[in-house]
Amino acid sequence: AKIGALRERATGEARVAMTPESAGQLAKLGYGCVVEAGAGLGAGISDDAYRAAGVTVVEDAAALAAASDVVVKVRPPTTGEIDLLSPGKTLISFFYPGQNGELLEQARAKGANVIAMDMVPRISRAQKMDALSSMANIAGYRAVIEAGNNFGRFFTGQITAAGKVPPAKVLVIGAGVAGLAAIGVAVSLGAQTYAFDVRPEVAEQIESMGAEFVYLDFDGGVQDGAATGGYAAPSSPEFREKQLAKFRELAPQVDIVITTALIPGRDAPKLWLADMVAAMKPGSVVVDLAAERGGNCDLTVADQKVVSDNGVTVIGYTDFPSRMAAQSSALYSTNIRHMLTDLTPGKDGKVVHNMEDDVIRGATVAFEGAITYPPPPPRIA
Ligand code: NAD
Repeated sequence: AKIGALRERATGEARVAMTPESAGQLAKLGYGCVVEAGAGLGAGISDDAYRAAGVTVVEDAAALAAASDVVVKVRPPTTGEIDLLSPGKTLISFFYPGQNGELLEQARAKGANVIAMDMVPRISRAQKMDALSSMANIAGYRAVIEAGNNFGRFFTGQITAAGKVPPAKVLVIGAGVAGLAAIGVAVSLGAQTYAFDVRPEVAEQIESMGAEFVYLDFDGGVQDGAATGGYAAPSSPEFREKQLAKFRELAPQVDIVITTALIPGRDAPKLWLADMVAAMKPGSVVVDLAAERGGNCDLTVADQKVVSDNGVTVIGYTDFPSRMAAQSSALYSTNIRHMLTDLTPGKDGKVVHNMEDDVIRGATVAFEGAITYPPPPPRIA
């Protein structure tokens, strides 16, 4: 069978779902690979680089879909892209079926099978296909780089002949995948790094990375822990007040705030309020990785950089992985390749869509003319 990668059409999207390297791995699974002309340019991959790896380059999306049994891409498909599918073809991409019901119905009506990378169950066995985590890791890394680029000082403290420079103070709010990546970068750049999460179990991990966990004065210093299955739940009003009071205390001291706090299925909680921005020093930077879900900071405008009255830069970009397209394409195409490894038990270039497999079942949102979202709860952990 043939695996084909579409060129992304969304404005500003620079990632690609197949690299020459991943195509080489797919060939070992017995597949032929196809790519739409220009698909890799945003990630620095020329058509010739694909050809050198044995990938066939075709003119446009229609030719790509016609030549492919499995179509891979990054962003959820457009209606036009779904139109190119037909019974027996499989699409693998981010899909967000909960928000894209009409696209899902269109794919079902087309008879296409759809595997949503955002629906891969977050269990240990599936980590190699966990594209949400690989992209969150890049977003967390880039958030700190972006903050540094907008901050007029060093991260690290220095004693120089020209004077003594204190280290920058970085606060990371939310220590999930993106937050932990941000903490790692901030620490390695030499910043004095603080981190807060509602889940107390991350404290040890934060401290082992060389950052300081921010505790609340809460019944003996224990965090709320209002969490289920590793995810956060909305905080109680009392907890929230304690949290905001702590942030108010920190606001005048910190130079950079990276916010990543999310609660599954909800708008992002507002945690860095307007008065906290107003209390920060001029030249400070807030990077809000929750911007796409409404933002953790009151001043965040999605996809924009704004500067507050007191000179604080608030960055709400939602395309951090695409800003590092070479890296994110490498990791995303590896996630896709691992998914195809599991779909190819015989390593013979034949897709076996085993709906008894919890990971494949969980990620499959349309199959053989039926909508298969939401999946039944996984039987194993
Ligand atoms: P996420 O993007 O849903 O949320 C980011 C962080 O924000 C979380 O750590 C959350 O606790 C925190 N948060 C929510 N409300 C907050 C508030 N009011 N104040 C401060 N912080 C707040 O999380 P994620 O990055 O997807 O990770 C969530 C969990 O899933 C983690 O425990 C992670 O280790 C786990 N995980 C497991 C796997 C796997 O086993 N394959 C893969 C990825 C993530």
